[in-house]
Amino acid sequence: MKTFNYHSAKDSKEAKKLSSSNSAFLAGGMTTIPSMKLGLATYKDIIDIKNIKKLSGISVSGKSIKIGATTKHTEVANSKEIKKTIPSLSSLAEGIGDPQVRNRGTIGGSIANNDPAADYPSACLALNAVIHTNERKIEASKFFKGMFETALKKGELIETVEFQIPEKSSYQKYPNPASRYAIVGVYVAKHKSGVNVAITGAKPCVYNDKDLAKALVSSFSSNSISGMEVNSSNMNSDIHASAEFRASLVVTQAKKAVEAC
Ligand SMILES: Cc1cc2nc3c(=O)[nH]c(=O)nc-3n(C[C@H](O)[C@H](O)[C@H](O)COP(=O)(O)OP(=O)(O)OC[C@H]3O[C@@H](n4cnc5c(N)ncnc54)[C@H](O)[C@@H]3O)c2cc1C
Repeated sequence: MKTFNYHSAKDSKEAKKLSSSNSAFLAGGMTTIPSMKLGLATYKDIIDIKNIKKLSGISVSGKSIKIGATTKHTEVANSKEIKKTIPSLSSLAEGIGDPQVRNRGTIGGSIANNDPAADYPSACLALNAVIHTNERKIEASKFFKGMFETALKKGELIETVEFQIPEKSSYQKYPNPASRYAIVGVYVAKHKSGVNVAITGAKPCVYNDKDLAKALVSSFSSNSISGMEVNSSNMNSDIHASAEFRASLVVTQAKKAVEAC
């Protein structure tokens, strides 16, 4: 690992001031530290945001849940408020990685990183999330731009993620047995305004499957999507799963999710 300057920011303003074109925020460090150790990333400045109190915590108000960016996966998994209002979100958090990862990794770090196989990005799309940063509010549908790419500008800090509480929802992941990342994960959410079917793991970036959603708006039952085929031509293919297998998993996991709602 190359040498770097370590800073601990006391608030979002200081974090922004310390950031540069060659810096990274340190939340759980579950991605940043291994990337630095492996020499995949080097930074001049590491800005620790864990001591910014405002960035952590969970609050429920009316139709939405707000989760602070440095809230750990294990806190989301164990939150009574989330279990009561969006149980699918707490079970998603419970299925991330292993206990070590869940005790350090954060929701803000996960969505800022936008790994193509990460779980939270699908929750953001399915639950019409709004990402509150130190500069603006970004709708989830405009936040995830491509593989490891988001709408965040350099030095822009996620402060909270606000999820809309759905009528019903379920997240069904077919995990990689080693890392627990999603080979394919499908998050189905039924809102008053419609249905979202968000898919992670299948393509280079999380996306909403409009065809599956349309079929479920007509009739919210697994029969209405049974037999549907998903185009595999632009899907990920690797040693873990072919594009064709991923395409079939999208429908299988979507059916499971609808049945579990
Ligand atoms: C072995 C292993 C297994 C895993 N399995 C899974 C899995 O099954 N599912 C899954 O979804 N994930 C999985 N992960 C990822 C993990 O859950 C973390 O969420 C992820 O690594 C990043 O979160 P972090 O808090 O550690 O971020 P960091 O590593 O601290 O930061 C990652 C990036 O996000 C940026 N960042 C962090 N916080 C903010 C913020 N508030 N605002 C703006 N930018 C920010 C940083 O600058 C950095 O670029 C796994 C990781 C490991 C190591």
